Amino acid sequence: MAFNKRVKIKTILELNPIGQEITLMGWVRTKRSNKNVSFIALNDGSIITNYQVVADPNLISEEILKKCSTGACLKITGIVVESQGAGQTSELNAKSIEILGEADPEKYPLQPKKHSLEFLRDIAHLRMRTNTFSAVFRVRHALAFAVHKYFNDKGFFYIHTPIVTASDAEGAGETFKVTTFELGNPPRSEDGKIDFKQDFFGRETNLTVSGQLEGELAAMALSEIYTFGPTFRAENSNTTRHLAEFWMIEPEMAFYDAEDNQNLAEDFLKYVIRYALDNCAEDLNFLAQRALEEENTKPADQRSELGLIEKLKFVVENEFVRLTYTEAIDILRNSNQNKKKKFQYLIEEWGADLQSEHERYLVEKHFKKPVILTDYPKQIKAFYMRQNEDGKTVAAMDILFPGIGEIVGGSQREERLDRLTQRMEEMHIPQEELWWYLDTRRFGATPHAGFGLGFERMVLFVTGMGNIRDVIAFPRTPGNAEF
Ligand code: ATP
Ligand code: MN
Repeated sequence: MAFNKRVKIKTILELNPIGQEITLMGWVRTKRSNKNVSFIALNDGSIITNYQVVADPNLISEEILKKCSTGACLKITGIVVESQGAGQTSELNAKSIEILGEADPEKYPLQPKKHSLEFLRDIAHLRMRTNTFSAVFRVRHALAFAVHKYFNDKGFFYIHTPIVTASDAEGAGETFKVTTFELGNPPRSEDGKIDFKQDFFGRETNLTVSGQLEGELAAMALSEIYTFGPTFRAENSNTTRHLAEFWMIEPEMAFYDAEDNQNLAEDFLKYVIRYALDNCAEDLNFLAQRALEEENTKPADQRSELGLIEKLKFVVENEFVRLTYTEAIDILRNSNQNKKKKFQYLIEEWGADLQSEHERYLVEKHFKKPVILTDYPKQIKAFYMRQNEDGKTVAAMDILFPGIGEIVGGSQREERLDRLTQRMEEMHIPQEELWWYLDTRRFGATPHAGFGLGFERMVLFVTGMGNIRDVIAFPRTPGNAEF
């Protein structure tokens, strides 16, 4: 018999195979014993529910039972029987138990009690064995699957854009360098500067901050594409919303204008959230309960009005508010928050960049709905965004979510070569390096648009977790790259 002839707990709960002999494999969550019987709660990660195994000391040796401690990995063969206890329809009467892997109770860090998320971050190699983290990662999987399903069903093509690039898409400069040079002793040219011509790629390279520019090239051939890959930003912002390594989804569409882009983004976000509601009910109910307990530790006036599931349904069922940056500035400037100087950054004039506190005010206090903000001043946006006729704004859109702030950033792209190069000159972006990007504007240019969704911010929203470090398996943040 092949080793992996086992039945997953999820399958047992679906099929309820009373009377049949089956083999289970998984990790012990808890064990309770008296002299007549032991109850082992086993979890194999297929579903949040533990499965109860009943072990009779007349059949299973004391030595084996002793090793069935929290964290140990077991292979159990037995008969499925109707359960006596409440809450579960069946349980397994063990005929034999094999210890696949022991877990010394003196040393195993996860105890059957509530651990803080901070503590669990320090043992990220084990934290997926908790209910909270296994739920988060099953939901994360479902969301990733929904992303691919959405685009595939719409006829978009998945493009794998490079991770090592020579361009810094936004010119923001927050990149990680990629080199094979010996750090203390890089070759130098006569003027003393590091001679990247001798480096691996014959030029200076870094980890990508966005696949957009390459995505645009693909859209100019395949019409509708998306990327979904890792993205890196060396920004030293230690927030609950930023990672140094995160996953970004970037659709890019030929023949879309700004409004088409907004419609797609809204439809896409709702689809993905709806998919989680339809397919992750058990995990979301558990996470909703967790979020509620956390809410209840906050002062009453800071608690959110909706529970997690209600919040997700609310987003799916209501239209997002759409307004321009200029309208938003008016709202913010006239807000009590601003008048009473309660914003850390007061809104004084048109042109100011919006901080997360402003975004959250609009979404959480003023509209109480997701918001699509459009037509930002060109000074605070990237060079490739399409210039509006007013000469001041560009066809940008940011989508703001409650509790998250910016979840999507996008725009209609500037397809007019003269406007694009003029903007690059103004912003000191070297055109020689982006000759290939400019070629799309030279040969067969067309209106097109796209956006970027930070995948972890979506997972954060759907799971109701409070810190982005808790929705990616092994977070990379300033000072952290242990696992
Ligand atoms: P923010 O203002 O929140 O830093 P941004 O303006 O830098 O975001 P974009 O460059 O537009 O973001 O990137 C597109 C999307 O990628 C954002 O809307 C967000 O969802 C996500 N994102 C950006 N930076 C990070 C990060 N450091 N960690 C996780 N997600 C991020
Ligand atoms: Mn940023």
